Amino acid sequence: MANLLVALQWATEGAFLLLTVATVIDWMRHRDTRNGHLALAFGSLTALILLAPAVGRAGSFNQLVTDLTLVVFLVSGYALLMFRDTLIPLGPARRWVTAAIAAVAAFAIFAQLPADLQPRLEPLQAIAAGAVLITWGLCILEPIARLWATSMHRRAVESARLRALSIGYAALLAELGVATLAGSAARHPYFVLATDLVTLAIVPLLYVSFSPPGWLRRFWRQPEEEAFRDALHDLLLYSPDRVTLAQRAIGWATRLVGGASAAIIDSDGSILATREMSLEQAAAIAVHATASPVGAGGILSAPVSSLAVPLHFQHGEGLLVILAGPFTPAFGEDETLRLRQYAVSITAGLDRVSLNERLQTLEKAKTEFLNVASHELRGPMTVIKGYLTMLEAGSLGELSSQSLSVIHLLVAKSDEVNWMVEQMVEAARLEEGRLALKKLPADLVTLTDLAIEGVSQLLSKHMLSVEKPAMAVEAEVDPDRFQIVVRNLLSNAAKYSPRGARIKVRVSGNGVGKVAVTDEGIGIAEEDQARLFSRFVRIETKATERVSGTGLGLWLSREIARMHDGDLTVESALGRGSTFTLEVPLTT
Ligand code: ADP
Repeated sequence: MANLLVALQWATEGAFLLLTVATVIDWMRHRDTRNGHLALAFGSLTALILLAPAVGRAGSFNQLVTDLTLVVFLVSGYALLMFRDTLIPLGPARRWVTAAIAAVAAFAIFAQLPADLQPRLEPLQAIAAGAVLITWGLCILEPIARLWATSMHRRAVESARLRALSIGYAALLAELGVATLAGSAARHPYFVLATDLVTLAIVPLLYVSFSPPGWLRRFWRQPEEEAFRDALHDLLLYSPDRVTLAQRAIGWATRLVGGASAAIIDSDGSILATREMSLEQAAAIAVHATASPVGAGGILSAPVSSLAVPLHFQHGEGLLVILAGPFTPAFGEDETLRLRQYAVSITAGLDRVSLNERLQTLEKAKTEFLNVASHELRGPMTVIKGYLTMLEAGSLGELSSQSLSVIHLLVAKSDEVNWMVEQMVEAARLEEGRLALKKLPADLVTLTDLAIEGVSQLLSKHMLSVEKPAMAVEAEVDPDRFQIVVRNLLSNAAKYSPRGARIKVRVSGNGVGKVAVTDEGIGIAEEDQARLFSRFVRIETKATERVSGTGLGLWLSREIARMHDGDLTVESALGRGSTFTLEVPLTT
């Protein structure tokens, strides 16, 4: 038993020594106040453990050893309080607290506390002993409460870090309790064994709470990881522009590693987004940033104060920089790795948004071109059509039958061009949101007849049959736009079916106003039918390659139909023909 106790004593001393060495190494590496206070705290606690056996057994040096132990004891409390001060500053109170602790130490030395507190103490000594214990207790209790309270208002990772620290302080307080008990109770070997085991068990707890290892930081990150998984999809797909995406992304990046501030720097060096950081600070980082400083490991993973991860954009290298704050657990290999994975998603997302932005610009340019081209063509085409009609009618003199047949052809061709220009003008209006319907009560039968008349030239080589009810089919429509749709269906039926083929138009008004145009032409393959109604889509086959068109007609027609609360649908079989049906609600 005695051997076991000695071994345990050695193990405890060794463990504390190791902890101290690790924190001192950390401090020497970083030379910052926080690590300094931690090294001082663990160093003084270790000194206490080493001094304890000598207390009361140093002969003529007894008082000196006792006083030294007392001072070391108070220094450990002071260092732990100052460690807390680097996380949540004490402010002006720091000076008073320091003075008070020094005064208590001086008072304890003055009172000449005995090595063994068991026998009756003089009143002054009792007060001094109480003051020492209360002072040390307060140095620990205050951080326990304060760190825990602060953890309530923080994000998961920072909050976990603060709670771990709070638990670490609590463990130290428990250690004091155990030591006091061990000192006061009858020194039964089993009791001593139990207290030694508790002391030894506290060491790893202190280690993980004051310097959390990677696995613990990963565990702390779990709640954020889960929320992040849910948010990633929306983040990447529904961010309207790069700046918004970068701003959202930076929020998640800091949450994931418990960072305090961050910046995303674009490939051209401009600042895309910042969080809790001024633009000047971000600009300075953009200039000096170096990629991926990683903690060097060791017994305690060496924390670094910033993480920088490259973002491989299509147009060059950007950077995601995160700075640690007072509550950041630590930036090590684990965080760098996680951030690198995250950077891949952000990069892809940001590139996708740039691509979208570029596509939008192109789309805009296309609409503008459509607008300008159609308006520029409209004027000359009206003149050309005017003169051709005059020539055809003989108003400009008699023409030979040969010339007249050419003029007929030219009139038909200028109709085709005019029709295309009209589609382009309407398409440009629709895209710019300027296509406003002028709805009037109208008869769909009459409008269909007018539309047929408008493309009669185009239909002249086909066998047209029209099936319509005797009664009018009344509906609220924009007469011009309605005709545009019917004319488009008729001209398509003519364009995509052979000469002489039948084209059937059926107008009906049973519950809903319908105009169906059926042809016996080339038909449309099932897989192509869904995309017919998209802008600029033309089905490229051998049968269509010689047919001219813009790919705007069906898109425009369906949009117009839907603006009327109706629809345009297709039924078709490849090689057998198609039926396009326009539907609009009837006047109720
Ligand atoms: P286009 O100016 O090319 O005719 P549309 O938008 O009117 O543009 O039609 C889009 C494509 O749909 C056409 O290029 C053609 O391939 C196909 N299409 C339209 N109508 C018919 C039809 N009646 N029969 C076969 N294919 C058709």
